[in-house]
Amino acid sequence: MSRRSELAAGLASVQQRIETACAQVGRDPGSVRLIVVTKTFPADDVRLLAELGVTDVGENKHQEAVDKHAQCADLGLRWHFVGGLQSNKAAAVSAYCDVVHSVDRRKLITGLANGARGSERRVGCLVQVSLGDGEEPQARSGADPAHVLALANRVAYEPDLDLLGVMGVCPLGGDPVRAFDLLAAAAQQLQSEHPGASVISAGMSGDLETAIGCGATHVRVGTAVLGAREVLR
Ligand SMILES: *Cc1c(COP(=O)(O)O)cnc(C)c1O
Repeated sequence: MSRRSELAAGLASVQQRIETACAQVGRDPGSVRLIVVTKTFPADDVRLLAELGVTDVGENKHQEAVDKHAQCADLGLRWHFVGGLQSNKAAAVSAYCDVVHSVDRRKLITGLANGARGSERRVGCLVQVSLGDGEEPQARSGADPAHVLALANRVAYEPDLDLLGVMGVCPLGGDPVRAFDLLAAAAQQLQSEHPGASVISAGMSGDLETAIGCGATHVRVGTAVLGAREVLR
């Protein structure tokens, strides 16, 4: 099978899963946007995905993302940064990413805002919410739910950043229903102050149905479209 048909099959199966999950909870499939997470896969795959109709891609490492973006700049894709971000890379990420999903501390916001201003573009921001119960080590990625509103206010204050909503990752071994309900509650709290910040980025290859049941507006899917990654990360 050609790589193109492999990707087409992966995409079709994920789109089917999204439709079925939406039907089960009475949602319009058009209310869920698919972000294909292309980390570790080559720019050629991104190009094929664009030809197959993908509009949004996600990356989680700055160096890899900036190179791939440069090779794919003609495709008109929306680029999402979904991984943990070092503060000293934030300004650079603002130069090519359209949406940063991992905003979880003040220092990042300053860097992202400086980068956006410097490159004269707007950058969308999602506040990443920690969905652990405090016991898993992964609970540390993301802001404590109690700090989400303060971070959101800080994003909203920056003229070159757009506050779009929240993002979360279910901790390894954690209960996805519990995790995504926690994220939905954080989203609701955020929207009571910022009604336009309606994005809920949740759900990956293994748990996208649960995320859609809990209100996800964006799912971030890698493996189920592209196949297994050689390097685990
Ligand atoms: C890699 C990654 C994904 C995609 O994960 P899959 O299980 O391959 O679908 C989604 N979100 C984040 C933050 C990631 O790092």
